[in-house]
Amino acid sequence: MNLAEAGRLLADECARYTALGWMRGTSGNLSVRLSSSPLRLAVTASGLDKGELTPSDVVEVDASGTPVHPGPPAPSAEAGLHGRIAAVSGAGAVVHVHVLAPVLAAERWPSGVELRDLEMLKGFGRAAHDDLVTIPVVPNSQDMEVLGDAFEASYRADTPALIVARHGLYVWGSDLRQARHRTECLEWLMRFIIES
Ligand SMILES: [Zn+2]
Repeated sequence: MNLAEAGRLLADECARYTALGWMRGTSGNLSVRLSSSPLRLAVTASGLDKGELTPSDVVEVDASGTPVHPGPPAPSAEAGLHGRIAAVSGAGAVVHVHVLAPVLAAERWPSGVELRDLEMLKGFGRAAHDDLVTIPVVPNSQDMEVLGDAFEASYRADTPALIVARHGLYVWGSDLRQARHRTECLEWLMRFIIES
């Protein structure tokens, strides 16, 4: 995938997340894998209204979240965690949104949010019955290396999500569509667990 194609996909996806109310203010960021060796991602630019994103509002970064080509626009400050997640999990796309339900769930279950016996777990790639799914929770930090280390320590290949306490949710998948479907299902699951 080239950067222009990635830009179109990321702008379209951001419009969908914005319509769901999941990219309030300028929060949230998405990335998609451009190449694997070396690892290169296209990540949404920093500080923009995601409902108004254009295909050129994306930045090519390496595995550490550093721009491959200098100059504006700047990548999201959280690009480093996108790179770490893509490198460790092999994901083709990473979603980060500041949705409320997982953050509330992490307040209640700071060592991990457990889910089981729920049909929507199938949309997350797990079984609807007798399959205990624990979504890891890590403390918030402005240092992407600290966040990346916490992510890696909690990582399980069968659980493509991470909650950053008092911050938001990361979900990943083979492509943007799978990552979005997983995000939508997980947001439903998190609302269920805090409201039931
Ligand atoms: Zn964030």
